[in-house]
Amino acid sequence: MKRPLEETVGELQDADNLDLELRIKWGGTTYPIELNSQSTLADLKNLLFQLTEVLPKRQKVLGLPRISGRMPEDSQLLSDLSLRPEQQLMLIGSREADISAVNSAQFELNNVVNDLDFDYDVDDNIDPVALRMKPQNQRRLERRIQSTEFRIMNPPRDGKKLLVLDLDFTLFDCRGTAVNFHDLARPGLHQFLASMYRFYDIVVWSQTSWRWLEAKLTELSMLSSENFKLTFVLDRTSMFPINSRKRGQNFVHEVKALEIIWRKFPERWSAANTIHIDDLSRNFALNPQSGLKISPFKEAHISRFHDRELYKLDGYLSHIAQTELDFTKLKHKQWKRYCKTYNVQIYAPPPNQ
Ligand code: MG
Repeated sequence: MKRPLEETVGELQDADNLDLELRIKWGGTTYPIELNSQSTLADLKNLLFQLTEVLPKRQKVLGLPRISGRMPEDSQLLSDLSLRPEQQLMLIGSREADISAVNSAQFELNNVVNDLDFDYDVDDNIDPVALRMKPQNQRRLERRIQSTEFRIMNPPRDGKKLLVLDLDFTLFDCRGTAVNFHDLARPGLHQFLASMYRFYDIVVWSQTSWRWLEAKLTELSMLSSENFKLTFVLDRTSMFPINSRKRGQNFVHEVKALEIIWRKFPERWSAANTIHIDDLSRNFALNPQSGLKISPFKEAHISRFHDRELYKLDGYLSHIAQTELDFTKLKHKQWKRYCKTYNVQIYAPPPNQ
């Protein structure tokens, strides 16, 4: 049971000297935290344990400034970390009760809190050309084209196509239960990225802020591999809302418009050599032809033993990179049928390995 914040703070802290205010996100809840200036990271973790029941040894606190490129030690004084007032941090970690439930296989699939994200089938519900031509959507697109800053991490390479990857639920289970962060990664992730790097420059585009994006990419060891490099990443600030319709009703959702990238690199990339992988097809509503909707990777504690989507996708993307001159001729929605038709080789370990 979670306990009231005031009670737990009172136990650990002298209420008169609470001068460090933080906000910690965990499991869909944001906890306001107050500590005194002599508190260490270990103190913060103890407080978080009382609030969340996640043992300190299981906790990863994301968003803390690094010291000489490393995560701060538990003995680190928080007051020396130059934290802003009410700075937001994210806690990643699972409670023992959840982990033991997973380990004893008593975890019923339908007991897992599912993501509430909605989606719709782009092809059946909207006309992308009409959406693009709406003046309001055009204006918002132009504003994002102007405002997006590209922080190039590794320069684009000549002759490479462009692979845009969503992160949450596409490459890892961002709400999963696991002892190690790496157990939340979709099976074959690093092998997939290394394989893709032969043919594509790789961009991650996630509907989150850069701080969380960087922290997640770091934990997944996606910024330090010898075998692949990310060209750049884009976050939510490069997305914008569009007015669309769903089941006859007006509704608004954000999109990842590839036009923003194409206008920045017109000599390199276009619809002819770009593909965008996402578990939400609404994200590519403005350019559905370039989008491939992948099944979401959720309930990692179970699905990581049988999910082979990245291995199959590796086969498809490697094949089309070598054989297809113009991606606009492809129907990515039928990518699995394409793999059968062209006898695309898939190298995947058998389930439960
Ligand atoms: Mg996603």
